[in-house]
Amino acid sequence: MQLILEYTAAERGRGTFSLTDTMQNIYRKFCLEFSDIKMSFTAFCRGRPSNVRLIQYTQRHVCLCQRHTNMSMKATASNVLPKCLSELTSMSDEDVKEKLNDMDNTRPIKYQQWMKKEVQYKTTLIKKVKLQEVVEDIDTFSQTLMRQLPEFRAHCGRVFTQYEEIRHLGVS
Ligand SMILES: [Zn+2]
Repeated sequence: MQLILEYTAAERGRGTFSLTDTMQNIYRKFCLEFSDIKMSFTAFCRGRPSNVRLIQYTQRHVCLCQRHTNMSMKATASNVLPKCLSELTSMSDEDVKEKLNDMDNTRPIKYQQWMKKEVQYKTTLIKKVKLQEVVEDIDTFSQTLMRQLPEFRAHCGRVFTQYEEIRHLGVS
């Protein structure tokens, strides 16, 4: 679970960690990664060590879920799309397509994605989310991205609403 822990520089000496995502999202990741372990969300929250601090909502408005991380790696690999995902999601499909047309399609694109993969764990095969390298031709890359974009925009809208709700809770 190295993704979710982040050393806060000022607290390095005391060995304090800060979470980089919400407990709900971390719990979801945990369930994906360790699908053979059955644990309730309450039990998962209770298991948080005292030196691991909760996320500071005021500092982070970026969702760090698997979908966001994957889209971010794709945008960066494309070399033509904005690396800032809120910039990407505010672009129209036509604009994104136009950008993708500028990609050099004489050679395949190589990038990394978090994906479910079956791995051997002791005597059984379990599904784990692993960082894997993808190599594909530009047409496939562009088509997949255009297909994922509407769904991704909807996801970003949902995340934004969640953060707004949390902010309101903090104020009241
Ligand atoms: Zn997300």
